[in-house]
Amino acid sequence: MKPYKHLLFRQSFINGKWTKESDKNFDVVNPSTDKKIISVYDNSEKSIKKAIDAAYLSMPKWKALAAKDRSTILLKWFDLIHANKEAIATIMTLESGKPYQESLGEINYGAAFIQWFAEEAKRMYGDIIPGFSADKRIAVIRQPIGVVGAITPWNFPLAMITRKIAPALAAGCSVVVRPSELTPLTALAINKLAHDAGFPNGVINTVVGLDASKMGLALCESDKVAKISFTGSTRVGQILSAQSAQTLKKLSLELGGNAPMIIFEDADIDAAIKGTIAGKFRFSGQTCVCVNRILVHENIYETFVKKFTSAVKDLVIGDGFAKNTQIGPVINQKAIEKAQFFVKDAVSKGGKIKTGGKIRKGLFFEPTVIADATEDMNFAQEEIFGPIAPIFKFSTDQEAIDMANNTIFGLASYFYSKDINRIIKVSEALEYGIVGVNEGLISSEVVPFGGVKYSGTGREGSKYGIEDYTELKYICVGGV
Ligand code: ADP
Repeated sequence: MKPYKHLLFRQSFINGKWTKESDKNFDVVNPSTDKKIISVYDNSEKSIKKAIDAAYLSMPKWKALAAKDRSTILLKWFDLIHANKEAIATIMTLESGKPYQESLGEINYGAAFIQWFAEEAKRMYGDIIPGFSADKRIAVIRQPIGVVGAITPWNFPLAMITRKIAPALAAGCSVVVRPSELTPLTALAINKLAHDAGFPNGVINTVVGLDASKMGLALCESDKVAKISFTGSTRVGQILSAQSAQTLKKLSLELGGNAPMIIFEDADIDAAIKGTIAGKFRFSGQTCVCVNRILVHENIYETFVKKFTSAVKDLVIGDGFAKNTQIGPVINQKAIEKAQFFVKDAVSKGGKIKTGGKIRKGLFFEPTVIADATEDMNFAQEEIFGPIAPIFKFSTDQEAIDMANNTIFGLASYFYSKDINRIIKVSEALEYGIVGVNEGLISSEVVPFGGVKYSGTGREGSKYGIEDYTELKYICVGGV
C-alpha cells in the first residue's frame, strides 16, 4: 500500500479551514475488511449553513477574476491531484473497496474534468444579435449561476465531485460539497489539494456528516444557493427536486439507470463479450451506466451465454489491493441483500444461474450470470447495482428496441451490430441520453453525460457541461 496518511483528514473543510462542529464522530469502514479506516467528525446542517455563507461571501471576488486566472488555479489543482494520485487511489480503494487500478483510472477520469473545464473557462462565449430596431445593440453574455451545492454518491468518490464542481468553479461559482458519508475521505483529500492549489478561502467547502436529509434540505432551502447538482438515486433526486420548489433552484440530477446491452445477430460476439464484461462488471457493477439487462438475439443466444459465462468465470475476485483483482466487494450489507434478492427472485421465476449467485465471503458477491431472464423478474425494472448479469432473449429488432425502452430510466444504453442501417436506426430509437455502439465504456470528460426520463436532467462534461452552471444575460443598449 502506498503512503497516504498525509492526505487523510477527519474534519470538514469550511472557509479555508479544517473545522469540526462538535466531538461527535463516525467511522469510515473498508468494505473489503470491515475494518475502520478512521473516524471523521460528524457535521449537521449547521455546518452546511456555515459553508453556504462562506461560499456566498467568497463568490464575488472569485467570479471577478479573469477566466484565465481561474483556469490557472484549476490547472494547478489538476497537477496536484496527479502528483498525489497514488495516495488518493489508496484512500479511495480503502473506503470504497474499488480495485486499486480502477481507483487510479477514476483519478485520471475525474481529474480530466478539471483540466477540461480549466480550458472551457476561457471559452464562455456569448452572442451579438442584430438589434430589433436601428438604434439598438444586443449582447448575450454568460454569467456564473451562483453558489452550487453538490451532493455526491460513494461509487465515484472523486469523479462525481470534479464532474460537478470543475465546471462550476470554471464558470466563477463557489461550491459546497456534501460527499457520501461512506466515502468522505477522498473528498477531503482533494479539497486539501484544491486549497494548496490556491483557491481562495470559501470557494470550495466540503462538509461531512451522517444526516444527509437535513444537510440536503439546508442546501435546498437556502436562498444563497442557486443550484443543486446531485448524483444518486431517483428517489433522492425526487426529494431534492420537491424540496427545491420553494426557492426555485436550478437542478442537475444524474439519477438511476437500467442500461440495456443488445447483442444483435450480426454482432462480433467476442467483441460484444469484452464490451459487456467491461460495461457490466466495472466496480462490481456499481455504476449508474453499468449494463443492467443483456438482450441477445435468439440465433446466437446459446453461443453468447456459453462464451460470456466462461469469461465471467475468469474474473478475479479479491481485495482491491491484491494484484489482478477485477471484482472487489460491494459497498455494504444492504447491497449484498439486494443482490441475494435479485438472484432469488429470478430463480423463482425460471432464471438459470450459469455461474455465481452466492456470497464468496463478507461483502464479496460472486460475479453472476443468469440465463433465461424474463421481463417479470425484478431486475428487468430495477437497477441492480451489483455483479449480476441477466441475459434475455429477443427475435426481432423491434422487440429488442421495445424491451430496451420498457423502463422508466433512460441513462446509458449499448448495442453490438455491424450493420450500418441498424446502427443508425437503433441509435435513434433508443430512449436514452447515451448510446454506446460496439462499445461498453462510454465515459469521458469530452462527452455530455446525462439521462432522460427518470434518469434525471442536465448534462455533465463536454462543452455543454458548463452551461448548467451559468445564466444567460441579455443586454440591450438603446438610443445608439
Ligand atoms: P445510493 O443508493 O447510490 O447511495 P442515494 O441517492 O441514497 O444513492 O445517495 C446518494 C447521495 O445522496 C449520498 O451522498 C447520500 O448520503 C445522499 N442522500 C441520501 N438521502 C438524501 C437526502 N434526503 N437529501 C440529500 N442527500 C441525500
